[in-house]
Amino acid sequence: MRIGTLIRQAERPFFSLEFFPPAEESQLPAFYAAVEELRALRPLFVSVTYGAGGSRQRNTLAVTAELARRGLTAMAHLTCVGAQPGDIAAFLRELRGNGVDNVLALRGDPPKGQTWESACGAFRHTADLVRFIRETEPDMGIGVAAYPAPHPESATFALDRLHTAEKLAAGADFAITQLFFDVREYEALVASLRERGVDVPVVPGILPIQSLDALRRVLSLCGANIPGKLYLELEEAHAAGGAEAVREAGLAFAVRQIRRLMDMGAPGIHLYTLNKPGLCRRIAEEVGF
Ligand code: FAD
Repeated sequence: MRIGTLIRQAERPFFSLEFFPPAEESQLPAFYAAVEELRALRPLFVSVTYGAGGSRQRNTLAVTAELARRGLTAMAHLTCVGAQPGDIAAFLRELRGNGVDNVLALRGDPPKGQTWESACGAFRHTADLVRFIRETEPDMGIGVAAYPAPHPESATFALDRLHTAEKLAAGADFAITQLFFDVREYEALVASLRERGVDVPVVPGILPIQSLDALRRVLSLCGANIPGKLYLELEEAHAAGGAEAVREAGLAFAVRQIRRLMDMGAPGIHLYTLNKPGLCRRIAEEVGF
């Protein structure tokens, strides 16, 4: 079933879960054990990220197909870096042949040292990919990414909002946001889409903070920002109680953030699990859904 429809019909609030495919086959048993542990959250859907390079993309396909076989509503991420229409059509056919009916359509990032102009292939923007998927597999579920703080390459905040609305209007069913820590950014993103007449569900993406190092790494990769007050709180927790105290402070923050998002009418929460079930389970227990 298309995830957009599932979200509209779901009992709220719900969790959805994002995983990345393990690089090595030997890591698969631990990976699937983590997925099974997170079944306790009764995820509305699960998604699997898509990496650069052929073997990583095969891993995405294999893992998404296995999650679908295990009875989960599974969605593969798909980027169009260097891709031609035939590559995308073949990937979509394989997904469908394996019982995967949903895809998160993304542009992706150019390989290190390249510009998007030199790396892009046949699809320049995600909206082009969304149109192609809609034409090739008309009844496939399509999600896209949305950015509460603007995408780092955006010329202006307003233009990024406009382009987000455009890719949704091109045929996507729902959006999942980049991680963020200030709920007002999510509220402003949703309001700007509604003002433009785009009424699809926007699922907020929440990152459980595992450690200060991991947080710094993720922020530098995705260009999201963190309020100074929260960062200071995490540093103070680290000074007082080390890594464990950082996780506890991060957990308490995530629970507050999720409650505020629910009060704002967010349809559910997309957890960036980083394949680590522990904190996600605790968050779910604390927020109580
Ligand atoms: P676009 O929507 O194409 O936007 C990219 C930039 O182009 C933005 O600045 C936008 O404002 C601008 N733009 C868009 N349309 C136009 C236009 N018509 N004219 C001018 N400018 C325009 N990456 C991976 O490699 N693998 C993954 O699995 C993955 N999963 C992700 C999951 C989520 C939920 C999110 C939020 C991101 C994910 N990413 C992933 C990262 C994503 O690929 C990058 O953020 C990428 O830089 C942008 O992708 P996009 O689909 O948002 O691009």
